[in-house]
Parts: sequence; structure tokens; C-alpha cells
Amino acid sequence: MTTIKLHNTKTRKREDFTPIDDKNVRMYVCGPTVYDRAHLGNARPVIVFDVLNRLLRHVYGDAHVTYVRNFTDVDDKINARAAQSGRSIGEITAETTQWFLDDMAEVGAIEPDHMPRATAYIPQMVAMIEDLIAKEHAYPAEGHVLFRVRSYKNYGALSGRSVDDMIAGARVEKAPYKEDPMDFVLWKPSDDATPGWDSPWGRGRPGWHIECSAMADELLWKEPLRQDRLSDKAKSTPHVFDIHGGGLDLQFPHHEDEIAQSCCANGTDEMARYWLHNEMLQVEGKKMSKSLGNFFTVRDLLDQGVPGEVIRFVMLSTHYRKPMDWTEKKRDEAEKTLREWYRVLASLNYTSETVASLKSRGDWRPADRIIKVLCDDLNTHQALTELRVLGRTGQVKELAASLDFLGLVTDWDNLARLITVDLGNHLELDLNAYADLLQDARIGAIQTKDFSVVDRLKGMLINAGAEVRMSKQGVEVMPGPNFDPAKLDALK
Ligand code: AMP
Ligand code: ZN
Repeated sequence: MTTIKLHNTKTRKREDFTPIDDKNVRMYVCGPTVYDRAHLGNARPVIVFDVLNRLLRHVYGDAHVTYVRNFTDVDDKINARAAQSGRSIGEITAETTQWFLDDMAEVGAIEPDHMPRATAYIPQMVAMIEDLIAKEHAYPAEGHVLFRVRSYKNYGALSGRSVDDMIAGARVEKAPYKEDPMDFVLWKPSDDATPGWDSPWGRGRPGWHIECSAMADELLWKEPLRQDRLSDKAKSTPHVFDIHGGGLDLQFPHHEDEIAQSCCANGTDEMARYWLHNEMLQVEGKKMSKSLGNFFTVRDLLDQGVPGEVIRFVMLSTHYRKPMDWTEKKRDEAEKTLREWYRVLASLNYTSETVASLKSRGDWRPADRIIKVLCDDLNTHQALTELRVLGRTGQVKELAASLDFLGLVTDWDNLARLITVDLGNHLELDLNAYADLLQDARIGAIQTKDFSVVDRLKGMLINAGAEVRMSKQGVEVMPGPNFDPAKLDALK
């Protein structure tokens, strides 16, 4: 079987990935807090772990992988958004959850097998907190429940920091009800205006970290156990799953806290075998932030006519463990490359039906060279280079299946639209250049009274399906419904 190598944050080493149970590979990734549109940075972990999900399914079989990504739908940012907008929390979280799913589908992400909402797992969180109190890893205080960080000796191991260093770095304030400034909240009280659930500690709501511990355990251990889907080997490694992922910003404190909760409640010495973290996304070399005016959402880009495939291509061009810079230049290059590939694919005349039937016959496999580089700690940058090789050497079917595998064709029925309309930005540039050319020729022709060059140029543009409008104000060239940019290449 193909071996996948992954950089494990926990050991700081590249390791061979060996699942606990190769018939049931289990992965959990921290998902978004739902109160607004996903910004471009939020799409990075989605795309990175989507590639890993696709690779795991390729290697272990579609039926043998379980991928869970949660929605945090209880959070003070959501409460603030509700108070400020006058809308209900349920309305805001339902709307933004759907936005997230729509936007991520546009960038080619396959939906995980489970997408649990935190508010649907409150009883499991309460049970886990009770267990932690019983084992003296947590204590109730003034309507709160706090995790006793010093009771867990391995706290900080994931990020390689000591508790004292973390206290110094985090400058945590010592709330009066805390035994120790490092202790973190498992449960907190809610007033009447704030969402709350009855609990042994009064009406309240969970702290952020506990939801991932409770939902990962429920969906990756308890549920498959109830359904008798785990091998004896997996059963002998209770409560531990294979891969846990998320953005690097979550490593501390969120993931340290998840590990502390899960290991202390379940009596294990690990929560997940492999921990993967994607580096952060920046824009033109700067941190993306509202105050710098370089903050934008995935939907902003889609609305500007940037196809989801272009966004995905740019994301894949940087390895997930490197900071990624979103630039206009990369976007243009991605657009150009994809357009070239789509033109090559257009010669196959595939529809979604053709692709589905090829898939069902097992005649639709990504090129080995693509799988090989992805197995090398998800080297997506190299995968794009390999795609270029397939394109250059005319391996059209391999290129098609590989682009499909990497999520770089989201709609086979609309390939033509992607070439001619959606990739409008580039096309407009090209066509504007032809318009300038035609205008120059016209100015020259008015002087020489020889319009043959103008006529020839105009004829070729029309022949390619472009619409040409010439008036006193100038020349306009636009793509018509049957526009075929390949025919323009003859003009170059
Ligand atoms: P949040 O909704 O802020 O909890 O973030 C959801 C996911 O997006 C988490 O996995 C974060 O690590 C990730 N994330 C947030 N901002 C960025 C960024 N600028 N670059 C990459 N990942 C990010
Ligand atoms: Zn989490």
C-alpha cells in the first residue's frame, strides 16, 4: 500500500502515516465559528485538509475514512453579532453556516462525513466536564468550571512550551475564581439575555475548547463503537484517533486544551496520533486585517468573478506548512494556467456524466506522479508542477483525472463557461489588447485610406466569436456567446 508521509507537529518530525485501523481512518479538523462570511484565510485549512481527505480516500478507500469538521455555533462573538444586529442567534448561525458550505463548495472542497454543530452536543460536553471534576482535573467556582492545568503533566507538549513560559507569553489575567491563572474555562454562567443550558453548575454555556474534545470522542470513537465499525486493534486503543488538524493559530491554547481535556477525561496519553497545522495566509506580504484594508472574504473574490478554481490553485501553490501570500500576480498566473488546461480538456468533450461513468468503471485515476508528491507531506506545489508536465506532454486524460482529483475542476458541464466567461479578468485584458490593436490600425487606415488590415483583424475577431463595436469613441471587443479564445491564438 502507498505510504503517506506527514509532518507531525507533536513529534516535530516527518513520519510514515500508519492508521490505528486501516479500515477506519479517522480525522478531525477544527472548523469555523459561524457569525460572518468566511475570510480568505479560513479557506486555507479547508482546502489543505480537503486535499488530505481526498488522498486518504484514494489510498484507503472511500468507505474507510471518516472526516469530521465542526461548526462552533456558541461563542461570544456570535452573541455580540446578534445583540448588535437585532437578529436571533439561530438565524445568524444557520445563515452563516450555509454561506460557509456554499463558499467552500465553490473552492472545490468535498463536505466532511460529519459536520457537527457544538450546540447539538451540550449533554456530551456536560458529561465530560462532570468526569473531569470527578477525576479532580477540574473544579467548579462561582458558576464556572475550570480545568486545573497543573494537574496535567504534559500540558504544553504539543507546542513544546512549559506552563510557566506560556503564562509569561499569554499574560493571562487571574480571575478571582481561578486557582491558577493558567486554568481555562470549561463552563461559564449565562445571564438571561445570553444562550444557556441547564447544568449541575447552573444555567450556562460551554467554553470553546470542550466542544472539540466531546465531539471528536463521540463521532470518532463512541459512535463507530456502537455501530461495531472498529477493528479489535482500534478497540484496544480507546478514545484515540488518527489525525487532528487546524490552523497554526490553534496550536496554543486551543489544541493544548483539547489534549488536556481528552487525555484527562479518557485516561489516555494521547488524543490523536498525528497533528497537522497549516501556516497562516497573508495578503501582499501583510497580515490580513480589517484595519489594514486588505481583508476580504471568499465571497468577495467570487463576486468579483474570480472562479473558485483559481482561489484553490493559488492556495495549492504554497506548501501548507509555509506562510502563504495571496497576491494579484499569483491570481493572474493561476487564471492563465487553468485557462490553458481547460482549453486542452475541452478537446475531450467530457460532461459530468462521462466523468461519473469513467469513475464507476474504475477508469478515472489521478496520475501516479501526483499521488507520489502528495504522499510527501502534501506537496501540492509540486503537484501543480506535475500537472504542467501532464499538460505539456499531451497526457490529456491523466491531466483531466488529476485536475478532478485535486478539486481543480468543480463542474465538468461548465468547462466552456470557465474558459470564456468566468475567467473574464484575463480575457478582458486579452480582448482589450486586440481592441487597442484594432484602434491603432484604424487610425493608420484613416490616413492611408487602406482599410485592408482593419478588415482582416476585425474578420478574425468575429470569426473567433468576439463581438466588435467600432464607433467615433473607439473600439470595443467583447466575448460573444460562441467565443473561442483558441482561434485568437492564430492572431498572435
Ligand atoms: P475561526 O473561525 O477563526 O476559528 O477559524 C477557522 C479556521 O480558520 C481555523 O482552523 C483557523 O486556524 C483558520 N484560520 C483563521 N485565520 C487564518 C489565516 N489567516 N490563515 C490560515 N488559516 C486561518
Ligand atoms: Zn478544535
